[in-house]
Amino acid sequence: MTHEFTLPKLPYAYDALEPFYDKQTVEIHHDKHHAGYVKGLNNALKQLAAARESGDYKLIKHWNREQAFHGAGHLLHTMFWENMRPGKEDNKATGSLLENIEKHFGSWEAFTSQFKAATAAVEGSGWGVLAACPHGSLHIFAVENHQKVWVQGLRPIMVCDVWEHAYYLKYQNRRGEWIDNFMKIVNWDKVQELYDCKKEEQCKEE
Ligand code: MN
Repeated sequence: MTHEFTLPKLPYAYDALEPFYDKQTVEIHHDKHHAGYVKGLNNALKQLAAARESGDYKLIKHWNREQAFHGAGHLLHTMFWENMRPGKEDNKATGSLLENIEKHFGSWEAFTSQFKAATAAVEGSGWGVLAACPHGSLHIFAVENHQKVWVQGLRPIMVCDVWEHAYYLKYQNRRGEWIDNFMKIVNWDKVQELYDCKKEEQCKEE
């Protein structure tokens, strides 16, 4: 059974962000562009399910790229809609977020100037991103495009190193053999712990 993603409803009316973000752009952006990502993501997941069924993985890279492109598009747009609200000129973070922004960037003004510079400097298409590390520190990055075969927004819970330094001395070119053996040494209890930490507030600094 494959999880089916659906286009989330906008948390406000199409014209709610006027005059800062116009009704027509919001409508096309949500109803056409974001909807296209959801459709592409579901199709990629269907194709990956078919590959698991048949055991034929020759198109695995293609469908993972499709999943990354559409999945990142879906998750980032969902966050984008949720992280906007009807505007005002002196819009600003408050509370502990503001405190942490001031702590990590020096001041609100320093944060906004770095965020604007990083976002304006995106090469080609992409996103400006404010990100929190699992321990609570804050960072600004530009994401170019949004898929480098990764769905931005997913949180790793198990990883296998396949840089050659990780296996070459013993396995040389036989990366598949290393992966087979790696699967025998995974600490699934640790993975379970990370999986259970689903809510970001549970992952924050004490
Ligand atoms: Mn978009």
